[in-house]
Amino acid sequence: MDQYSHEVDVAVRAALDASLLCRQVQKELRGELSFTKSDRSPVTVADYGAQAIICKLLKESFPEDPIIAEEDSAELRKPDHSGILAQVTRYVRDRIPHASPEDVCGWIGSSSRSLADRSWILDPIDGTAGFLRGEQYAIALALVEKGKVTLGLLACPNLHLETGRPEGAKGSLFLAVTGRGACQMDMAGKNKQSLTTPEIGDISGVLYTESVEADHCDHGFHRHIAHKLGITRPPLRMDGQVKYGVVARGEAALYLRIPAPSEQGFKENIWDHAAGVLVAEEAGGRVTDALGRPLDFSSGIKLEKNYGIVVTNGIPHDRVLTALGFQKAPA
Ligand code: AMP
Ligand code: MG
Repeated sequence: MDQYSHEVDVAVRAALDASLLCRQVQKELRGELSFTKSDRSPVTVADYGAQAIICKLLKESFPEDPIIAEEDSAELRKPDHSGILAQVTRYVRDRIPHASPEDVCGWIGSSSRSLADRSWILDPIDGTAGFLRGEQYAIALALVEKGKVTLGLLACPNLHLETGRPEGAKGSLFLAVTGRGACQMDMAGKNKQSLTTPEIGDISGVLYTESVEADHCDHGFHRHIAHKLGITRPPLRMDGQVKYGVVARGEAALYLRIPAPSEQGFKENIWDHAAGVLVAEEAGGRVTDALGRPLDFSSGIKLEKNYGIVVTNGIPHDRVLTALGFQKAPA
């Protein structure tokens, strides 16, 4: 049996089940299904519901493994949020009959914030802003062992399945296992296709991708770099780690994430990148920070030792780093 076949089986089942919940919530989304957390970031019933479903399955299957996940049940237990907890429970019950609010809070957990030798890293909805706009988001799950990502899974319920056919069927699942390559499947976990580096003759025709949110990266600087590289097409703006997926499957050749001028001190969360990095790398792409350093997943829940992120597939990575021209991280 393959070394990670049990982990893959559980992770895929969990992410697909959580995707169904997310789709349901997005379809029925109304104001009362989202609120702003004490750190001022948005969260929805679906973030909690997806985390509950995934953590339940992970805890049952791998009881020894800690889970570092974005959401915390403490927020949901606040008296002000009892209505939200009731909604979360209602959606979870569609998938796990008889789940009580207490069960739901227990599965969501009070997230551990320190990495063990082997930890699961979960962002139940990466790109909540996109989810709220009815656009792109990803359910991102990774296994990190001794600072290395060994399994990465991205479920992208709103991403068209076929490259270049945005009007076609929606839902793409990306899976990567270290040393075993990356593949894409549909939202039934079927029609597996392995991903490889695309042949690119002329860089001017490639797409680059970046965040929708203007404070998550420097759109103006990205435009300048794309121009310097000879890329003529406008950026493909998407939320969450869907961007890693579109680079992995060759739809975009470059993903840039250079901090916005007002956010120079921002340190990226590992759950916003771990799964996507392995998917892009195992598809044959390259991922570094803006100074060409590998992303360091050994320092805790933040990418403390990195500045910016550069992902390429099919175009020379070093040419992008040269165009960026960083000798050291700006103070
Ligand atoms: P994206 O959809 O690619 O813009 O990324 C969404 C993630 O960006 C969220 O999950 C946040 O954790 C993260 N984020 C929040 N603030 C910032 C910031 N100032 N710079 C970069 N990323 C951020
Ligand atoms: Mg996120």
